[in-house]
Amino acid sequence: MEGPVCQVAWGCYVLLVISIGAHCAMSSDNLACPSTSDLRTQPVAALDKEGIGPAMMSIPMIACSTSLSEHHSGGSGTNKNKQMVEQLQRYGVISSKKVVEVMETIDRALFVPDGTPAYVDSPMAIGYNATISAPHMHATCLQLLEENLQPGMHALDVGSGTGYLTACFATMVGPQGRAIGVEHIPELVAASIKNIEKSAAASLLKGGSLAVHAGDGREGWPEHAPYDAIHVGAAAPEIPQPLIDQLKPGGRMVIPVGKIFQDLQVVDKNLDGSVSIRNETAVRYVPLTSRDAQLKGY
Ligand code: SAH
Repeated sequence: MEGPVCQVAWGCYVLLVISIGAHCAMSSDNLACPSTSDLRTQPVAALDKEGIGPAMMSIPMIACSTSLSEHHSGGSGTNKNKQMVEQLQRYGVISSKKVVEVMETIDRALFVPDGTPAYVDSPMAIGYNATISAPHMHATCLQLLEENLQPGMHALDVGSGTGYLTACFATMVGPQGRAIGVEHIPELVAASIKNIEKSAAASLLKGGSLAVHAGDGREGWPEHAPYDAIHVGAAAPEIPQPLIDQLKPGGRMVIPVGKIFQDLQVVDKNLDGSVSIRNETAVRYVPLTSRDAQLKGY
């Protein structure tokens, strides 16, 4: 009897693993898959992925339960935000002091919808088939762009969603610089402006060095081009030419590229105008698409 029982038990185990994998594999960066948080064990490169095989093992584990419960019970947001950043440092996602500073300055809780656990390392739904990316992914993109976010520089955030990264960019480039968010859902633009008004970046918004506009980010935002840094928060089937055109020589763009399988690409425009592209890591983002397609569920 042992053989069949063992086989049935093994079969159930395999089915369970497959079903967890399928659930998580189907969730994009931008869909929460909290069950995988517990499975994140290895402090290696950050992947904005909810669990396809080895990718899942590469996601650093960020404390969830304490942050979650304290957030819901009204614990100090500033402290919890700091703890989240410390965790990202401890697990090797953040090594840059400037990225630590900006992520401590801009409290993530001000950018997630009410009732959403703010400090869990997972993407969270923000409505309109969009999400706020996971903290480790925000950290990764800030770090990749750090050299191009020096005081006085110009940054463009395409698919700015909640406005979190736009606020971080604005804080890094300062009042002499410029940070522009472009988002194609007007309701998200309005909400992101309210979020920023509550944040430490409020004075930059008021002073005009930070702005968020409604528009198709595939066209970039020519008015303030060229940019030292361009971040794209949704996956493009291929890199939109207007974004390459609006990158300054010496500038850098970070953009997820692909459909089902996506890579976070780092696009450097050399001083002679040529472009070098490398893949940073495998990711899963919602598509950079038309507003209609997004509202219909792609
Ligand atoms: N980085 C943001 C949002 C990521 S979700 C954050 O963390 O808050 C991707 C965002 O891209 C969504 O808000 C979606 O509405 C937006 N988006 C998708 N296609 C777009 C397009 N063509 N132009 C502008 N925004 C777009």
